[in-house]
Amino acid sequence: MSYKNITIAGSGVLGYQIAFQTAFHGFNVTVYDINDEVLEKAKTKFNGLSDAYKTDLNATQQQLDRTFQDLSYTSDLAEAVKNADLLIEAVPEDPKIKTEFYKKLAKVAPKKTVFTTNSSTLLPSQFAKITGRPSKFLALHFANKIWLHNTAEIMEHTTTDPQVFKDVVAFAKAIGMLTLPLHKEQPGYILNSLLVPLLSSALDLLVGDVADQETIDKTWMKATSAPLGPFGILDVVGITSAYNIGKISAEKTKNELKIKTVKYLKENYIDKNKLGVSTGEGFYKYPNPSFNNPDFLK
Ligand code: NAD
Repeated sequence: MSYKNITIAGSGVLGYQIAFQTAFHGFNVTVYDINDEVLEKAKTKFNGLSDAYKTDLNATQQQLDRTFQDLSYTSDLAEAVKNADLLIEAVPEDPKIKTEFYKKLAKVAPKKTVFTTNSSTLLPSQFAKITGRPSKFLALHFANKIWLHNTAEIMEHTTTDPQVFKDVVAFAKAIGMLTLPLHKEQPGYILNSLLVPLLSSALDLLVGDVADQETIDKTWMKATSAPLGPFGILDVVGITSAYNIGKISAEKTKNELKIKTVKYLKENYIDKNKLGVSTGEGFYKYPNPSFNNPDFLK
């Protein structure tokens, strides 16, 4: 892997974190977004991230100064990619926006540039053709709070060049990620393929009046030695995400229990602003949720 110049397209929730993490690990990073105003906002957000790196990773001032030196900004796409070895796309999760973006990008990017998408729900094969370089295109998916939740799910599609795949795995490792290669397209990657069914089954048990939330969490925690049960996890992920995923599933399946779950989440949590850890209350109350009580599993 001989990547040196990395371009991040989109400086929103995930994009600015990917940019900072990449620069922190010594790569030259160009941040691209739709206009200079958005880029100015990104610069302010980097200052906040810098504090988090100090607190959470014991980063030194010298390391952080160098990180800032390695970051540059532009709202001109051709300028942003003119030297790029790798482009990481983190534009909004909207197929129309991503399609338009790849069409524009294909026209201005040098032949050598490898494109990756950070999309959480859209598969690379959907965009492979319009990138104009299907063999140099794949998914590179990060998690929110990248500096702490340092996972990279790297997913190829049928025509990704095996060497390009290896290079992207090596790059992800070089920026401090635990690399998780997927050799086939899989909606939801590995994490959500496991997590979404678990959380959804937990809600089915609760809303179907089979057991209460604490009993369900106790079962999971005791039986698997996990530090959190599904309802503890739902509070971390945020109940809004569970509600949105549940709504799509209810509309698609018309399943009675799923429809009841969506109504239950809306009335008891969304409408009351009990959205999980972020608002101080969800299925549990924070900062002292009952599952942290030493007697919880007795
Ligand atoms: P976001 O809405 O916070 O940020 C998107 C950014 O893209 C914004 O800065 C916006 O100005 C910019 N943008 C809009 N149109 C653009 C265009 N045509 N060209 C370039 N930039 C454009 O979104 P996000 O939450 O950072 O998500 C971005 C991608 O990352 C999505 O594909 C999402 O699935 C994925 N992702 C998000 C999370 C998360 O927790 N938010 C986690 C993993 C992956």
